[in-house]
Order: sequence, then structure tokens, then C-alpha cells
Amino acid sequence: METKKKCPYCGSWDVQTVYVESEGYRDWCPQCGKSRISRAVIKSGIIIFIIILVYILGNIILYYAQESIQKPNILKCEQIEIKLKEMELNISKYEKDILNNKNEMQSQKSEIEKIHGKLLSPEINYKDEKGYNMEYNRYRNLIKNYNNNVDKTNKLLLSYKVLIDSYNSNVEEYNKLAKTAYTRWFIIPMPTKSKVKK
Ligand SMILES: [Zn+2]
Repeated sequence: METKKKCPYCGSWDVQTVYVESEGYRDWCPQCGKSRISRAVIKSGIIIFIIILVYILGNIILYYAQESIQKPNILKCEQIEIKLKEMELNISKYEKDILNNKNEMQSQKSEIEKIHGKLLSPEINYKDEKGYNMEYNRYRNLIKNYNNNVDKTNKLLLSYKVLIDSYNSNVEEYNKLAKTAYTRWFIIPMPTKSKVKK
């Protein structure tokens, strides 16, 4: 089973392999008392070291190869990301404008209804014809402004819808690209962060 080893210091064939805690296996000669790290241990250490080195170098090469292949897709993804951020700002601006218009229309509407009620009984609400006519002109202007706001809001809603559609199609394009652009393969699969937008 065991092959005998010759002590390189005194030439004795009594060399024993002993296990030393935190050092590994050692060839120990009971004749001269000298010992040295067993060759077998050094060899397997080198093999493990080479395997780790090949694994690390292989993954590094694989990573940079994929990185350079995916470079155009990564750039495209980054461009879309910038575009999406601009669109998000635009979208929130539209939402704010639409909400402001609707609030303004709401207060115009209640003002119009209030004046309309007063105009229905002029003898109670107005001292003279001049007062009535002034109020009536205000009423007509308010209706004109209200109708302008309806047109403005409808136009805003239309542009808003176009913007949302464009935003969604950009997200779709980004996700299609990101799926390959940011996926990296390794010799042994490693978990990577997904950049796909939900
Ligand atoms: Zn010896």
C-alpha cells in the first residue's frame, strides 16, 4: 500500500507521513528528526491553484468578450434610458397641466352656474339694466373661457396619450434589448442583477 520514502537528509527509509494541524501532511524522519511538507500535498495545492486561476481568467475573458459584443446594445439601452427620463418629466408636466385645467374648469363651472341663477331673476338681483348687462357680459366671457379650456384640455389629453404610447413602446424596446445586453454567462453560473424594467 504505502511506498517507502527515503529521507533526503540522512538516507533512512523510515520516513513517516504525519498530519500536522494547519500545515497539512509532512514527511517526518524519526532517525534525524527532520521533516518537510509532503510533495503530494504541494502538488494537489498547485492543481487547485491552477483550476482556480483558469476559472477566474476564463470568466474574466468571457465577461469582457460578452461586454464588447453587447457594447452597441448597452449604448442603445443607455440612450433609451435617458429618453425615458425626459419623457417621464414631460408626462408629469402634462399631468400637472391637465389637472390645473380641470380645477380651473371646475371653478369656472360653479361660477357660471351661480351667475346663471342670478340672471334668471334680474328684478331681485340687479338694481338696473346696466348692472344686469355687466353681469351678463361677464357670464358670456366665462362661458367662452370655459369652452376654450375644454378645447385646451382635450388637446392636452390627446398629446398626453401619444406621449404615454411612445413611452410604453420605448420601455418595450428597452426590455427587449436589456434582456441580452445585460445578461452575462460565466463558466459556473453566477447570479447577476437584472436590469429589465417592470
Ligand atoms: Zn532522516
